This record gives sequence, C-alpha cells and structure tokens, in this order.
Amino acid sequence: MLQARLAAASRCLRSGSRGELPVAAGRWAGAEAGLVRSRASPPRCCSSVGRKWIKPTGRDTGIQTYNSLSRSKEPLILANAGVATWYSCGPTVYDHAHLGHACSYVRFDIIRRIITKVFGNEVVMVMGITDIDDKIIKRANEMNISPLALARVYEEDFKQDMAALKVLPPTVYMRVTENIPQIISFIERIMASGHAYATSKGNVYFDVKSRGERYGKLTSVYPDAQEEMVDRDKRHVKDFALWKAAKPQEHYWASPWGKGRPGWHIECSTISSTVFGSQLDIHTGGIDLAFPHHENEIAQCEVYHQCEQWGNYFLHSGHLLIKGNQEKMSKSLKNYITIKDFLTKNSADEFRMFCLRSKYRSAIEFGDDSMNDAKNLLQAISSFISDANAYMKGQLVCDPIKEDVLWEILANTKANVKAAFADDFDTSRAVAAIMDLIHHGNRQLKAVTKVVPENKNSATLSSVIDELVSFRVKVRNYALAMPGATAAAQVEEGTILAKETKQEEKETRRQLLLEREPLLQACDNLRRDLAAFGINVKDRGTTSTWEVVDQRREEQRPETSS
Ligand SMILES: [Zn+2]
Repeated sequence: MLQARLAAASRCLRSGSRGELPVAAGRWAGAEAGLVRSRASPPRCCSSVGRKWIKPTGRDTGIQTYNSLSRSKEPLILANAGVATWYSCGPTVYDHAHLGHACSYVRFDIIRRIITKVFGNEVVMVMGITDIDDKIIKRANEMNISPLALARVYEEDFKQDMAALKVLPPTVYMRVTENIPQIISFIERIMASGHAYATSKGNVYFDVKSRGERYGKLTSVYPDAQEEMVDRDKRHVKDFALWKAAKPQEHYWASPWGKGRPGWHIECSTISSTVFGSQLDIHTGGIDLAFPHHENEIAQCEVYHQCEQWGNYFLHSGHLLIKGNQEKMSKSLKNYITIKDFLTKNSADEFRMFCLRSKYRSAIEFGDDSMNDAKNLLQAISSFISDANAYMKGQLVCDPIKEDVLWEILANTKANVKAAFADDFDTSRAVAAIMDLIHHGNRQLKAVTKVVPENKNSATLSSVIDELVSFRVKVRNYALAMPGATAAAQVEEGTILAKETKQEEKETRRQLLLEREPLLQACDNLRRDLAAFGINVKDRGTTSTWEVVDQRREEQRPETSS
C-alpha cells in the first residue's frame, strides 16, 4: 500500500496534478492499525501528561535513538519490518543554502546510511519543498519575478548543493504548491473536528487551547510564540495559521475561506499524511524546528487522524555554531557561508568528516581548527590505505605482517563501530574506533618497514618512483620510435621514388638513432642507479614495472647456503 501511495505521490509531483487525494485509500486503514497497536501494547508513559510517548509495536532495529518526544533514548522500532518511513522537513527555497543547512542534511544522510547499510533496513524518505511563503514572496517582489519562478531556481540550486555534498536524494520530493487541494481538504477535516476556526478576514487558525494538555509534546515550557505575520484576528496568541488570506497582489489559491495560501506547518502534516497515512516512523529536522513547527505538525496530524501518536520518533540535529561567538549560522544573523563558497576551498568528504566527529544532536563549532582536524584525519586514513596497497603490491618491504593480530583487531573494530552506531548513531565513537585500527595497522607496517631508501613517508616515495618510472618509459619509447608511415605512403608514386625514399629513410633512422642515443643511455643509467637503491625496473615492451628487492634477504642468501 505504501508503494502504491508513493507511486501516486510521485505521479502527482511529476504532473503537478490537482486530482484525487492519494491519501484516501491508506488513511483509515492506518488509523485502525494505530488503534490495534495501542490496544496490543499498553502505553508506556513519560512523567508529564502532555509528553506521553507510546512505544510502537513492530520490528526492533537494534538501534537505540534519542527521541525528542520522550526525551530519552528508546529502541527504534519500525511499524513495518525492514522499512523505515521517514519525513524530512525540506528547504524554503528563496536563496542559496548555507553551511548550517548542509550540516543538518549531511548528519541525517549519515544516519540514513547507517540505518540502511549497517542495519539493513530500507528507508522511504519524503521531503517537502516549501515553494510558497512570506520570504519567497518578499524576495520575488524585490527581484520583480513571480514567486514560483524564484522558487524553482532555488529548488534546483538546493538539489545541486545536496548532490555536491553527496547527500542521497529523498525517495520523493513534494512541493507545497502541487498539494494545495490536499492541504485544503486536510484543513477542512480539522475544522470539522472543532479544532480550527475561520475568521471574517479569510484566515483559518488552529485552536491550540482545544488540545488542552496534549499541546506541548515536544516542549514543556513553550517559548513565546513568535507573532505570525498575519492579521491579528486569532482568538489566542498561540493559535497558528492553517490558511492565510491573500494580501492584494499576492499569489493565491481559491479555497472555501477565500483567496489565500497555506500556513507553514500544515504543509508538512499534509504531505507526510498523503504518502504515509496516519503513521510515521521517523521525522527529522534541525533543533529550531522542534517548536513551534513540529509541535504544530503533531497537533494537526493527531487531530486529523484521530490518533494518539502520529510520528513515533522525532530526531533533531544540533546547531552549527561559528567558532568564537557561539552564534548559530543563519540567514537572519547574516553570519553564513554558502555551501557553494565553502566547496570552492574544501571537499564534501572533509565536511562529512567534520560532521562525523560530533554527535548529530550536539551543537558543532565550525572554524579553521575543526576543519583542519577533519582534513588531517582524512589524510591519515588515505595514507594508511596507500601504505597498505603498496605493501600488497610488494612496494613496501616488510617482515611478514602478524595477520592473526590484525584480523582480531579488525573484528573488534567492526563490533565497536556497530555498537557505536546502535547507540544513538554515535559517529564520533565510530571514527575513534576506526582511527584506533589504523594506528595498529600503521604500527605493524612501520615497525617492520624496510623501504629500501629509508624514507619517512613510504607512500609518497612509492608515488615518486611511479612518476619516475613512468617518465623513463615515455623518454625510452620516444627514443625508440622511428618514422615510417609517411614514407610508406609515397611508395605508390613509382619504384625509383620508392628506392630513393628507402635510402632517405635509412639515413634518417641512422641520424635519429645517433641523436637519441644519449636518451637511451640516460634511461639505462637511471635503471642501474635505481637498482643500487634496491628498486628493480623491468622493461616489458612499451611499458615498465618496478619492485623493491629486499637487499637484506638478498645479502643473507649466500650466507645461509654456504
Ligand atoms: Zn516541516
């Protein structure tokens, strides 16, 4: 059923269809399943009434994850064995994305890969794209283009940034403007249940008081709700807009309440429910989305689906802070670095390593020091891999590696990495375990390494020899190559000419050989000189190979035989 709904959603996205609600088939089946679930396992509640969390039934993944709903680590249980349904709040597309956004999406990309590659579950991820809102309208007016045109430009820009950061795309992107009929029908159901009201100005608000203690699942003391930029015609300051009446000249859609557009929170509730029905495993976003955005999504969905618990796990990533001033990176603080600027001087792998070194929930301090640390770690990993490859190619002379020791350390590392991932996706612990393995590996390689010319960095040396040998091959091939093709083409002109040409050709070859003799001599000399260092270059036709000859063993041979 999920597949069918996803297919319908993606058809809808492609065609921009305003047709039937794909949600209809799955909605009530899911709600019934929810009732069965809560009967089957009695709710395990947290201390506060507003914050009770119902442990879902289903398949335990073996992962413990911190859940913002219960404010503690919980076993990650998927309603459908082997498949995680995941809704990710997407970008509001009105400008370039910055490193703060990158940090959140890369951290959740890492978690997604852990859930799939390490724990073997499939992830079906839906990401909503906010392509109509106040900021988009404001910027489009400044630029004198339509809000939708602006949104398409920055949506594409966002996708390119994510690809450059190697973030896997969601299973499906869903735009708000292509789900307006679904959103209107979602609002109508909330109103029918008595949890929302329309005003004479054409706005619709969610009635927060009507939820009683159930509002406040994510925040016990909710901060002062920011005054929404709508007409102040709501009953209570905490009430939030489901539908905003259009101002003059604004882009609008027709609705039962007049011309307008959706509020922010209702988009995510509707889009998620359109694909996944009344039940969702994982919901993610940056920590600043917890309130009011996710709180309001929960209120809307639980009213709409008439269920006790819509999303089972809310995961929030920590802020990216600017080193020194402890400010989070944001557009409004004007302290941001765009992803594009960042990637002109750093690589996606370096940024990913920077993210891996902290827990996804904690704030992360961005600065030259932390980026350099990440670069050094990556360098250490690639040096180790080069050394290991050189060893396997016989380009590092070693006593036999103690394989049994390495196998044991490798097995321990694998277990430690998996245990770290299972403990709330603790990537920093996993990185430490891998660096420990590399440390052991290096100790073995270095302790026994007899690179023939003593050199601190054997991998670099190996590359230098590669370059040298490849240069020698080019020189040698040039010295040995003789012209012939042009002369042969002239043979047809006549035998006399051919005879003359042959003689000329012979003379040319002799001349060339004479001229190139020093090059061949230099190639031979280089081969001889390298052999003195224990590097044996072998010419094989037009290519050459090289290997290190263990001089110590060579020297020992006559002794042992005598
Ligand atoms: Zn959202």
